[in-house]
Amino acid sequence: MKILVLNSGSSSIKFQLFEMNEKISLACGIIEQIGEQESYAKIEFGDKKIEKKEVISNHKYGLKLMSILLIESFIIKNLDELGAIGHRVVHGGEKFSKPVLINGEVIEEIEKLIPLAPLHNPANLDGIKVTMEQSPNVPQVAVFDTAFHATIPSYAYMYALPYDTYVHDGVRRYGFHGTSHHFVLKEASKYLVKEKINAITLHLGNGASMAAIKDGKCIDTTMGLTPLEGLIMGTRSGDLDPAILFYLARKNGFNIDDLDKLLNKNSGLKGICGNNDMREVEKMAKKGDAKAQLALNMFSYRIKKYIGSYNAVIGKLDCIVFTGGIGENDIDTRVRCCEDLEHLGIELDLIKNNQRAKEIIDISSKKSKVKVFVIPTNEELEIAEQTNSLLGT
Ligand code: AMP
Repeated sequence: MKILVLNSGSSSIKFQLFEMNEKISLACGIIEQIGEQESYAKIEFGDKKIEKKEVISNHKYGLKLMSILLIESFIIKNLDELGAIGHRVVHGGEKFSKPVLINGEVIEEIEKLIPLAPLHNPANLDGIKVTMEQSPNVPQVAVFDTAFHATIPSYAYMYALPYDTYVHDGVRRYGFHGTSHHFVLKEASKYLVKEKINAITLHLGNGASMAAIKDGKCIDTTMGLTPLEGLIMGTRSGDLDPAILFYLARKNGFNIDDLDKLLNKNSGLKGICGNNDMREVEKMAKKGDAKAQLALNMFSYRIKKYIGSYNAVIGKLDCIVFTGGIGENDIDTRVRCCEDLEHLGIELDLIKNNQRAKEIIDISSKKSKVKVFVIPTNEELEIAEQTNSLLGT
């Protein structure tokens, strides 16, 4: 059975087609810069690539182009040939703790969650609505970024605010990157041949988050009501004293939009050293840039603090897992994050750490009590697998 996975954003749509019998990717592609003059569509399959440069004014036309590309590549004859379409949906709120078959009622519920994810859920819904129109006979499944974190207990997801902000406004920790944390957890579990493992998973990309996993279930995560909380990221601050916002508003007359931009777009690595791309930050630091070195130290220090606190609430760890663009590729960040953690039973093998991870690799030393893995994430495959198992095929 073929499953198409769609990740529909506000100005781009990423897609990947899987043959689920062999769990292989047949093709992947992207429709970029929707609504702009420079828009284009691209598909890659085997060692081939087709690109179409034209004005793609909306999602409807973008998704039509996607089906044309899939058909022109002789990968499918028409969209009805698909066994299912799996959609990434960022926010499932408290309503969706599992993947769900999409119908009118589900669309309404996702719409109700727009205030919690005003940038993402509307774009995800655009993709859903257009594909439901274009392929009414193909089952469509929503897979939520937040769902993996549904097992977090209330004492960990509540903020110490008046209880009404939870009841009336839905203010609580939801967590994100759930499909990635879930995927690498399953891979680590398979590798260890143990079903209910204790793990800390680190998804370190431009956005970054960690999850605490006890007996195979997520019990805490660093992102909160929004993806702004927790680790230092490319352009996001992560944790800070909330009173900084009042202070800056009063002192400099910043309004809500200024503060939103400050914390989401101009902070993190970029805020400290002027660059949000970890490869560049590493290069700058190697050339002696003191702010870049500070940014790197801050980035790994925050991670170490969370490793310690998650270890305290999980108990004995089986493994920690690095994933995401930085986690999978940045050898030096992995060293900095694990440095001096021998007292927690975490010790890297510096030679193994130098490897490129095409699949799971164990980079822990022989003495290390806790395994340290690097696992390339595959959120699209995870969405396809969850879609497949929901349909029971
Ligand atoms: P993602 O959001 O998962 O695509 O990850 C993007 C981040 O991964 C960026 O900060 C990149 O600079 C970083 N990254 C990708 N490759 C490397 C690498 N070889 N070394 C260090 N950072 C990398």
